[in-house]
Amino acid sequence: MVVVMAAGATDSEIDAVVASVDAAGGEAFVSRGEQRTIIGLVGDIDRFLDLNLGGLPGVSETVRISTPFKLVSRDHHPARSTVWVGTAGHRVPIGPDTFTTIAGPCAVETAEQTLAAARLAQDLGATILRGGAYKPRTSPYAFQGLGEAGLRILAEVRAETGLPVVTEIVDSADIDVVARYADMLQVGTRNMANFGLLQALGSVGKPVMLKRGMSSTIEEWLMAAEYIAQRGNLEIVLCERGIRTFESATRNTLDVSAVPVVQAQSHLPIIIDPSHSGGRRDLVAPLTRAAVAVGADGVIIDVHPDPRTALCDGPQALTAPDLADLAAQVATLSAAVGRTPAQVSGRTTSPRR
Ligand code: PEP
Ligand code: MN
Repeated sequence: MVVVMAAGATDSEIDAVVASVDAAGGEAFVSRGEQRTIIGLVGDIDRFLDLNLGGLPGVSETVRISTPFKLVSRDHHPARSTVWVGTAGHRVPIGPDTFTTIAGPCAVETAEQTLAAARLAQDLGATILRGGAYKPRTSPYAFQGLGEAGLRILAEVRAETGLPVVTEIVDSADIDVVARYADMLQVGTRNMANFGLLQALGSVGKPVMLKRGMSSTIEEWLMAAEYIAQRGNLEIVLCERGIRTFESATRNTLDVSAVPVVQAQSHLPIIIDPSHSGGRRDLVAPLTRAAVAVGADGVIIDVHPDPRTALCDGPQALTAPDLADLAAQVATLSAAVGRTPAQVSGRTTSPRR
């Protein structure tokens, strides 16, 4: 069982819940988030029901949950959630009514390259910019990203284009600096089970995009999301990015069926990464069409003004000639599944030069 405290519940109201649970022989785990406090109960459910905790001052609701993940489950929240990315006047929804295209370079390399990639992203209909400043690379000898200098470039390009920014966090030590610049923090496949990082993101006050571990089950992935939620941050977007299988023709195998499976179990939005899953440019358009058709809430796509010189993942990046057709297909297919392409609210993004 989970006790959700009302916004503004006082310490003594929280203490009263914990004291009742203790007195009933149970254990209470208090998670204080930016928005609200959540108390997870472990022990005899029948004794907790007798306590009528929902009637105590400061309690918003009590929730009985049968799945191992609780706050991210649809038992807790039957309606599918929408996560808003960005700040006032520049907010983009990711949720059940829209289809959100996120696009940008795999890695931030220079200001010119990032702005050019952001313009390509807009040509693809994207309303959120991606770009890695901290790159988790398989080889320690590969380009590791520009760090804070890369975050500054992303902020400049956001100011120029009006696009909110998602960028990866690889180390808890960098949370303050990344959260200062980013509108949404990305946890990559290699860090999905970095529980210390996930817990720290529970109090970051910004949305988190949680990629699926390449060797993780859907249940492990939802439990990873629970780590973030349990610390008070329910602004989580899941991202299916392919899993390891015996198939070697593609980098990883996109698990399209994860989308409806997750949607049956969790209220969180879920998007697809058709670039990192296949690792091949020629697969990005077909997998993007599959993403819309299967009911995903969006995609995150690599684009680059000159993939031959890209410092990271050039072979999967879309470039100028690939964009208009795919944007049109996404718009047509979105309408066919009852969604509209997500826009930046408050004002339209700045037009092409
Ligand atoms: C990325 O999106 O830049 C990335 C490294 O993706 P993944 O964690 O899915 O490999
Ligand atoms: Mn990449």
